Amino acid sequence: MGPAPQRTAPAVWVAVGHAAPVTVSQFILTQRDDSSLSVSWLAPRQRSRTSVEYEVMFFEKGEEARYTVKHLLEPNVTLRDLQPDTAYLLRVRSITPLGPGPYSPEQEFRTLPPDTGALSGGVIVSIIFGVLLFIGLLLGLLIFRRKQAHRRQARPDYNTSGFDREKVWLKPYVDLQPYDDPSRGVLEFTKELDVSCVTMENVIGEGEFGEVYRGSLRLPGKECIVVAIKTLKSTYSDSQWWNFLREATIMGQFNHPNIVRLEGVVTKRRPMMIITEYMENGALDTFLRENEAKFSPVQLVSMLQGIASGMTYLSEHNYVHRDLAARNILVTHSLQCKVSDFGLSRILENDAEGTYETKGGKIPIRWTAPEAIAHRIFTSASDVWSFGIVMWEVLSFGDKPYGNMTNQEVMKSLEDGYRLPPPVDCPSILYELMKSCWSHDRIRRPHFQEIRAQLQHFISSPQLLRPVADFDPRVTLRLPSCSGSDGIPYRSIPEWLESIRMKRYISNFRTAGLDTMESILELTAEDLKQMGVSLPGHQKRILCSIQGFKE
Ligand code: AMP
Repeated sequence: MGPAPQRTAPAVWVAVGHAAPVTVSQFILTQRDDSSLSVSWLAPRQRSRTSVEYEVMFFEKGEEARYTVKHLLEPNVTLRDLQPDTAYLLRVRSITPLGPGPYSPEQEFRTLPPDTGALSGGVIVSIIFGVLLFIGLLLGLLIFRRKQAHRRQARPDYNTSGFDREKVWLKPYVDLQPYDDPSRGVLEFTKELDVSCVTMENVIGEGEFGEVYRGSLRLPGKECIVVAIKTLKSTYSDSQWWNFLREATIMGQFNHPNIVRLEGVVTKRRPMMIITEYMENGALDTFLRENEAKFSPVQLVSMLQGIASGMTYLSEHNYVHRDLAARNILVTHSLQCKVSDFGLSRILENDAEGTYETKGGKIPIRWTAPEAIAHRIFTSASDVWSFGIVMWEVLSFGDKPYGNMTNQEVMKSLEDGYRLPPPVDCPSILYELMKSCWSHDRIRRPHFQEIRAQLQHFISSPQLLRPVADFDPRVTLRLPSCSGSDGIPYRSIPEWLESIRMKRYISNFRTAGLDTMESILELTAEDLKQMGVSLPGHQKRILCSIQGFKE
């Protein structure tokens, strides 16, 4: 069989700085037979004249323990002496003088069966016939669809059930816009529940639309389950009503372990309700703040991997979330993270903290990619930027991105090329991934599939998470907790330690007899060590903050 090139991954590669290792991707199968596979990938564009090597690791599918590693100078490889009709998995990483980059996601290629190389004349004729038949059918289908479209144009009020079915075929998820009456749209994708099956217990949150309750759902013939019940307050505005229905409609079309599951809706009685699975640990940002430093890097990466899986699913359905942030991720009792908040609900109203303030409309500035803020270009790549911020929130146990900087200062600093600094004790490989999500050029950001695969790789090779990222003043912002431009802006040591998320050391300072802000100004790393602040990352954070008071 001929060497038909086979494209296997979306076209993307990521450059993360001068001579820095890059993620290799865009694999092409250039040749294969029953015992070999030839694969090439895109050579990363080099900004400097440093040499790049590639390390290829491959193994038979299901036999990961028996892998082979090859080192190459060119971005292609031929794997020989393989088994016929067998799947092989391959990972590639680049190696520059700075060290190896992350492995690419696994690529699967299959060798040909032993006899397909010599096709008989009869088989060739059948293939040609098959191809012609296929082309004929395709043309027929196109002509048919074009005629249908003409017919619809001739009858503009044609409407089957409120939305254009052709869109469903082209677009993996259906929005509410095509519906004249959104309450009809919602019924297409959700289940109307009998309100007598729903019991509301206690309030667990306040959402954009109204109160959120914990409760139970007992459907006839089914076990009673714990649920969350979002209610639409009686004083709702038109836009709240519309967004409420939109959220349910969108959620009802998704089915993934990392997307909050919709159980059903109540739209025929008041208050209207959206009933979803109950997530015991609530919103991720609050959960992390309440459990600071309680989770290992692998646990944090597993949470992020779950979010990346949910986001991969959404991006494959063409759904752009636009408001991906830790506050919109919910956590189960087993720490599984699920994406929630569809329908842009928070963006439109109820924004006491100014999270969504901007001139031209309401956008969560600190989480949003520059092109989305400036030109309203929202894509899965802008969701990837937000994912990088979520990574930062998770690794800093719920810190506010960019601290006390104003939204204007954030936008200006990003424009000047600055980025968030690594959170305390952040594995450097994770910080590199965050920075790649914050590439100014959205084409250079990784896709969610790649992010998910990389995070999975870090979970299976936890030693990669050991090196900790350093603060680099050339490219990272000095957050307020690291600066103190107006002298000492804190009244007490506990207040200061809390602001830099080091409150666990309050008693160490007290025991050392330090009780005024002036008393800490001359502390050194050695003093901190003797006081029991032994982690270098924590020493650095404290000293960096003290330095800020003196500048
Ligand atoms: P929302 O309107 O989605 O922003 O919800 C407001 C708050 O209600 C969230 O921040 C959570 O604390 C809580 N909440 C919402 N949905 C759920 C759920 N499915 N399980 C548990 N808590 C939830």
